[in-house]
Amino acid sequence: MSSIRVMVWNEGQHEKKHEAVQKVYPQGIHGAIAEGLQEAGYAVQTATLDQPEHGLSEAALEQTDVLIWWAHIAHDQVDDAIVERVHKRVLGGMGLIVLHSGHFSKIFKRIMGTSGNLKWREIGEKERLWVVNAAHPIADGLDDHFELQHEEMYGEPFGIPEPDSLVFVSWFAGGEVFRSGCCWYRDQGKVFYFRPGHETYPTYYDPNVRKVLANAVRWAAPTNGPKITVANRREPLETL
Ligand code: ZN
Repeated sequence: MSSIRVMVWNEGQHEKKHEAVQKVYPQGIHGAIAEGLQEAGYAVQTATLDQPEHGLSEAALEQTDVLIWWAHIAHDQVDDAIVERVHKRVLGGMGLIVLHSGHFSKIFKRIMGTSGNLKWREIGEKERLWVVNAAHPIADGLDDHFELQHEEMYGEPFGIPEPDSLVFVSWFAGGEVFRSGCCWYRDQGKVFYFRPGHETYPTYYDPNVRKVLANAVRWAAPTNGPKITVANRREPLETL
C-alpha cells in the first residue's frame, strides 16, 4: 500500500441529471476513478461539489497529497475561496491532476493563466493516444500507443502554456490532434492534464487510462525538496 493520499474530486452533476451517465458510472465518475486508484494501492477519498466547502476543507486538503479534478457543467459554481485554497496548496507541493473538461475549470485556468480554449466534437469517434516521451514516469508500463474506441474529440490549438513535459499526443478518427498528457511545475507543486474522460463513455474503466492515472499520481505526489519561502534577505554563505 502506497502512503500517497489521493482525493478524487468530481462536480457530480451529470450523474444526477443524465441517465446515460448514471448507466456508465453508477458510482459516479469519481467512484470509477477511485476504484482504479485503490486497485493500484493508493489511499483514496472522494469529494463532490454539493458537499460543504465542496468537500475540500482546509483539513481535507491538508491530508491530500494529490488532488484529481473532473468537472464540466458547473465550473462557475465552484467557490472562488476554494479555488484560492487549492491553488495555494498546489504551490505548496500538493499534486493536481486535471481531467478532460476540467480544462475550463477555474482552478486550471488560474494555474495556467491561459484560456484553456480548444476545438471539440462529440460523435464518439476513435481516439489514439501516442506516447511522445517514452522515458517519462507517467508512460511507465504502456505500449507506444493505446486506443479508446469512443471518445469526444478535442483539437488543437489548445490554450495552455507550453508544457514542461508532454507525455501524450492524441489522434482522432476525424483527423485532429491534441496534446493529451501535459505536465507543468508550479513552485513546489506538479500539475498533470489528461484529456480523455467524456462522461458518456466508459473511459475510466479502461486499463491503460487507469495505468496512466496511477502513474500520474506517483509523479505528482509531493517531493521533499527545499521549501520556497517568501522573499527575505539573507547573509552570504561565504565570507565576502
Ligand atoms: Zn466531454
